[in-house]
Amino acid sequence: MPELPEVENIKIGLKPNVVNKKIIDIEFSDLVKISHEQGKKAIVKDELEYFKEKIRGKEILNLERRGKYIYFTLNKGYMLTHFGMTGAYFLVNDLSEITNKNYYKHRHIIFYFNSGEKMVFSDIRRFGEVRYLEDISSFKPFVSLAPEPFHKKALEYFLEKLDSKRYREQKIKALLLQGSVFCGCGNIYACEVLYKERINPEKLAKDLNLDEKISLFNSLVHILKFSISQGGSTVSDYVHTDGAKGNMQNFLQIYGKKVCPMGHGTENISIKTRSTYFCPICQK
Ligand SMILES: [Zn+2]
Repeated sequence: MPELPEVENIKIGLKPNVVNKKIIDIEFSDLVKISHEQGKKAIVKDELEYFKEKIRGKEILNLERRGKYIYFTLNKGYMLTHFGMTGAYFLVNDLSEITNKNYYKHRHIIFYFNSGEKMVFSDIRRFGEVRYLEDISSFKPFVSLAPEPFHKKALEYFLEKLDSKRYREQKIKALLLQGSVFCGCGNIYACEVLYKERINPEKLAKDLNLDEKISLFNSLVHILKFSISQGGSTVSDYVHTDGAKGNMQNFLQIYGKKVCPMGHGTENISIKTRSTYFCPICQK
């Protein structure tokens, strides 16, 4: 699943190539159309005609990321995208430029630009979401989402949440994945950061001291920034990474490992259904 760093790289790659362009037409795959006829709404979460009517003729003024979503600011309204497990955008002049066979086959929305280019949303497993919104701030998943990790208020917010009645009795690993506590930490990053900080993933939030919490937050920000710098995905060659692929896999210390860097045997437990690697000796 594309995590915050990959989504940030998608945004960085896409933004200079789409801003100031106008969407003149939209085409859906047969699969999307059939699924809508059956009331299942694959990928496009609005009624198809409504979506078309709202997007067609609009100019893209900006492209931003919030958590794992990106949204296009149109001259009226917004178009929001979540990449699910395998969603990807391609910007091409000709569809044959999508050289990955799977992405070519599973192209589901084509946006035709006034420049002659096409922006294609492909999604193999179809957990991605694309929708039109009049108002971005009232979009439900954004309402309770923690500030962006690089925002100056994010640390204060994080400390407040770990101290709160609602969360203080919960396991720290679970909280790192909770969007209302910290925005944009995927499972692999959570394992890595807890190893780096030598914190046992089952430790409760209330049992961490202030220094540990601050250090943990700083490590999270650091790993996300580092991962963004390693991303380098461009629009046309962005290929789905499951989080452990891409360059980051070369830097993992604990996730998926049988022994930790100190040579101790690791353990793999499930915390809130997520696979959690840790070292019982290094992490207390
Ligand atoms: Zn160890």
